[in-house]
Amino acid sequence: MATGSNKSVLVLPGDGIGPEVMGEVLRVAEWFADRRAVRLDVTEDLVGGCCYDAHGVAVQDKTMLKATQVDAVLFGAVGGPKWDAAPREQRPEAGLLRLRKDLDLFANLRPAIVLDALVDASTLKAEVVRGLDLLILRELTAGVYFGTPRGRADLPDGTRRVIDTQSYTEEEIVRVVRVGFELARKRKNRLHSAEKSNVMETGVFWREIAGRIARDEFPDVEFHHILADNCAMQLVRNPKQFDVIVTDNLFGDILSDEAAMMTGSLGMLPSASLGPVDPKTGKRNALYEPVHGSAPDIAGQGKANPLAMLLSFAMMLRYSFDLPEDANLVDRAAQDVLNDGFRTGDIMQPGMTPISTAEMGTKLIAALDRLNG
Ligand code: NAD
Repeated sequence: MATGSNKSVLVLPGDGIGPEVMGEVLRVAEWFADRRAVRLDVTEDLVGGCCYDAHGVAVQDKTMLKATQVDAVLFGAVGGPKWDAAPREQRPEAGLLRLRKDLDLFANLRPAIVLDALVDASTLKAEVVRGLDLLILRELTAGVYFGTPRGRADLPDGTRRVIDTQSYTEEEIVRVVRVGFELARKRKNRLHSAEKSNVMETGVFWREIAGRIARDEFPDVEFHHILADNCAMQLVRNPKQFDVIVTDNLFGDILSDEAAMMTGSLGMLPSASLGPVDPKTGKRNALYEPVHGSAPDIAGQGKANPLAMLLSFAMMLRYSFDLPEDANLVDRAAQDVLNDGFRTGDIMQPGMTPISTAEMGTKLIAALDRLNG
């Protein structure tokens, strides 16, 4: 069925529940090929612990090359106790880190959406989170997690000191803030830029640049500066005031986890990581993955919730393939299945019907059929 215009996707299921949840994505991808003429050229490969077992490395060079050539990478999850003793540079997580680094995936998109059916799964009051749909955009490849110098030093008086360095170039801020504005334009047209300009040089610089881009390039987008600590507070006080929040690596790490917990379950959380646009081809590297890990405690038992992986697939349709209607179909089908009372164990509630990973896939495809008429 492949044609020159097909979208190419590298599928990396990984370890633990990765292959189980990815299996449901492949079924849904087939549905899209049959019913919506969305045809994907899928190549599957190993990453993580399974790749270490087969080839002695967490990811092979040929897989890395493929990842740079395809239109998008779909990633399951890696890791597990089986590989605890593997050498550090070949630990399963090293495969994911190399993908992020080599593809220059600087923009990490973490949506936090509270579906009506799961409103009670949140620890916040229903009225605070009902209808919540926000997106945290985290800078992923610079900042304090990468800045130098870093490390420990012995001081002359015999005590010790330790250093991490928060560092950003202008271009590193510009490119992620621009992505924030572009995303906001496709959503509710509102962007908050979170930093600590009250106490940090990087915060002052970040604020200046974000303000300049707002003024010069995106005057049509509603824009707010917000201090990161206030942002953390506002997220639990009134999260629906936010649409897109752009922030640095460290604050993004914390704020995205905070926002994620409003939705109640790890099994429901998708993510996307985007690289720069190649000026010659217009192509942008992209990797889509659920937020959860390989869940070794439930792997191989048909208990995993595949919705985070399926919603990551929907993000791929939206952001890499510019197919918002098709992405919406997956999102709505997931809502319908939950509204009909079907649940995997992680999101089980009294009176609901427990189903397996594969049954969740089957129900979702049935819902897609209904929505597609
Ligand atoms: P985890 O996300 O794998 O699991 C945490 C808990 O949530 C477990 O009880 C698990 O059963 C449950 N859970 C997670 N996803 C679920 C799903 N889809 N459906 C139902 N239940 C789900 O985190 P962990 O236990 O801290 O880590 C396990 C392994 O995964 C470790 O080796 C860790 O390094 C790795 N990990 C990988 C990634 C990744 O590949 N991106 C991310 C986080 C952790």
